[in-house]
Amino acid sequence: MAKIFCVANQKGGVGKTTSAVNLAAGLAKVGQRVLLVDLDPQGNATMGSGVDKRQLELSVYDVLLESASIQEAAIFSEKCGYHVLGANRELAGAEVELVDLERRDQRLKLALDVVNQEFDFVLIDCPPSLSMLTLNGLCAAHGVIVPMQCEYFALEGLTDLVNTIKQVHANLNPDLKIIGLLRVMFDPRITLQQQVSEQLKSHFGDKVFNTVIPRNVRLAEAPSYGLPGVIFDPSAKGSQAFVEFARELVLRIPSM
Ligand code: ADP
Ligand code: MG
Repeated sequence: MAKIFCVANQKGGVGKTTSAVNLAAGLAKVGQRVLLVDLDPQGNATMGSGVDKRQLELSVYDVLLESASIQEAAIFSEKCGYHVLGANRELAGAEVELVDLERRDQRLKLALDVVNQEFDFVLIDCPPSLSMLTLNGLCAAHGVIVPMQCEYFALEGLTDLVNTIKQVHANLNPDLKIIGLLRVMFDPRITLQQQVSEQLKSHFGDKVFNTVIPRNVRLAEAPSYGLPGVIFDPSAKGSQAFVEFARELVLRIPSM
């Protein structure tokens, strides 16, 4: 059975997509069968996995509206070694179109139930909002991976997300929990980042992943080549950190 994780944080630009595509590539590298679901109409995870969002015949939009299955809509990215259920601007319309439909928050979950045996991991790249799209992700998932930068307001920013996760857990998806906080774009030379990192650990304990993702320009350059950093430049510090993170996650699974 696949482990299904949302990569979520309601803030934009915190590193969700970078984490989702590089974790997908890292997991594939250590032998896991991975499906990456792009739930953001910006389609950055799709493009960053070498799949052209403008050329998608079927996308996660069709899956949410039940006009296609995941088997039909997912594409295997040869270069990246994982499957991609892509997204593009069309997905922004789903928000409105889903409003009047039955079980509108369960659409992704129902679709994933069918392909459960075909993957070891399903990663869902969420948009920077707590919208119906994110809700579909949270209803489908076993847990949430929260990428965060160690900045001054980092802890405050978490409150909304933690409350949403609690509500979804109580009302819609009793499986849901926070899997862990992933420190990203970390610069150890900045004292404030070290301090916030320590605060995070004392506040959230073992919910903070051991692996730290450094700020690394190769990770930022990779998307313009349509690749995760892990594939674009495997020797880069950031890429190595994501493969290490994939290993950490695989080791954590039995204790979840
Ligand atoms: P989100 O999906 O949360 O909006 P992104 O993953 O798109 O965030 O990242 C925002 C920006 O930060 C992008 O330009 C990305 O390339 C860059 N970035 C993300 N992680 C790193 C990192 N570890 N080192 C350097 N740049 C990064
Ligand atoms: Mg993103």
